[in-house]
Amino acid sequence: MTDVREELGELLAQAREHLLYYRDLGLTHIGEEKKTATGESFAATKEESPVSETAAPKPAPIMPPPLPVESNAPETPLSALLMPPQSFPKQEITMAKKNEPQAPAIISLFGNATESQPETSPARETLPGSETLPARETLEDIRRDLGECQRCKLWTTRTNIVFGEGNPKAELMFVGEAPGADEDASGRPFVGRAGQLLTKMIEAINLKREDVYIANSLKSRPPGNRNPEADETRACIPFLYRQIACIHPKLIVTLGNPATQGLLETKTGISLLRGKFQNYPRIAGIKLLPTFHPAYLLRSPDKKRDAWEDMKKVRAFLRGEIEP
Ligand code: SF4
Repeated sequence: MTDVREELGELLAQAREHLLYYRDLGLTHIGEEKKTATGESFAATKEESPVSETAAPKPAPIMPPPLPVESNAPETPLSALLMPPQSFPKQEITMAKKNEPQAPAIISLFGNATESQPETSPARETLPGSETLPARETLEDIRRDLGECQRCKLWTTRTNIVFGEGNPKAELMFVGEAPGADEDASGRPFVGRAGQLLTKMIEAINLKREDVYIANSLKSRPPGNRNPEADETRACIPFLYRQIACIHPKLIVTLGNPATQGLLETKTGISLLRGKFQNYPRIAGIKLLPTFHPAYLLRSPDKKRDAWEDMKKVRAFLRGEIEP
């Protein structure tokens, strides 16, 4: 009996070693990998963790993309074989479930409009000329490269770097200008009053905050919420470009004038561009829709109706109902 136990123990130890070896190779699932129409891996979507960075940069370990596994066996997270269920990372149970039915939204912030249930978002398109190569760096790589950044003078007055957060495989990305006081204090984007309004805008189109990715053009707060200066934007915006290339969203919604002008590399103002689909100039196939900044909407509630019209376009675009 003792021999059998010892043998079993040895076999289990060998199996565990084998699984650890696969994990070291970057393999996160054993079994059939589910694909979208464009070949994007659902498994990868579920495994990626939302990125939320704070001032004390604790670089997350690099998570290589899962390798496809040829097998008919049901999909099994490798992590499930290596750790007990109660030790699963928190993000695995909070990650957005894109196909999950959601309750209709009562859009009180835009009036009393009640919207019907959305259908499942269509698969991401690959348009001619799109940048189809997979991103070679992860958000964690970019965050690590940013480090305790001192590339412009804003580092001297900030409390926390606000890198961005959300679904690293998001189809929809929101980009604002720069962190405010609440964001600077927390290290998270859009968490103050304007951020709460943005969350409502996202929920109004039947998405969750965790479904999208939210970032700013600048990662440090300009003192007194002054406008960023040209040299500060020049120093910081390349990190946003890299985040966009890494996430490769289907649509970027720019919030306000500076973010719109920064990403479109134009001097045309938001009043002319708002609500009109644009091409993101750096990566073919990514669309961009400018709308008002939520902070502006708080000051000018009469503009909420326009913003709601923009958000309806966002939803229709993601559902494949309009072709800009
Ligand atoms: S704003 Fe950007 S470039 Fe300037 S210090 Fe902050 S992170 Fe660095």
